[in-house]
Amino acid sequence: MSDFEVHPLFKVGIGLGSNLGESKDILRRATQELRSSIREMTVSSLYETDPREYREQPNYFNCAVVGYWSGSFFQLLDFCQTIENREGRIRKKDFRYGPRTLDLDILWADYFSLKGPNLTVPHPRLLERAFALIPLLELEPDAIEPQTQRFLSEYRQTLENQGVYQVEW
Ligand code: ATP
Ligand code: MG
Ligand code: MG
Repeated sequence: MSDFEVHPLFKVGIGLGSNLGESKDILRRATQELRSSIREMTVSSLYETDPREYREQPNYFNCAVVGYWSGSFFQLLDFCQTIENREGRIRKKDFRYGPRTLDLDILWADYFSLKGPNLTVPHPRLLERAFALIPLLELEPDAIEPQTQRFLSEYRQTLENQGVYQVEW
């Protein structure tokens, strides 16, 4: 890509999760790395959350960041995966929801949606996950689901208590 190409700025929300290793340190480092390329980035509170899909694993620490990304969404996914790999993320094909040092998911983008084999935005499971919606809404309370045009906060209200507790950073 040429350096002269102009990219629009997208407001994006990224969810971070960790339940292996020194999770708080990993999340702190990851937010610093994200800040290097995400403009005007804000960071949510830290939450400790019960594991969901596969329950026999340690609790997760989750947070979210919001800011402006200049580039394509595939470049953003690539940037996120580079940070995951640097923190020792190992993907096991047969064990998708197992423990991980770092998971970075593109949760949401303002006025934007995309459905593809490698990337779907908003994140396909955002609306059912309190651990993703709560930190995102803390930073972006008026965020809208681009397809339905409903507030994300409305979806949040329909979820049962999923064991998401704010903790000290
Ligand atoms: P989940 O997607 O349910 O949160 P996970 O985060 O553990 O599960 P990963 O192993 O991190 O899953 O990612 C699997 C694939 O999901 C990635 O290789 C990526 O191509 C794809 N993917 C699709 N949409 C997104 C998105 N919005 N953010 C991040 N990855 C996504
Ligand atoms: Mg995930
Ligand atoms: Mg992921």
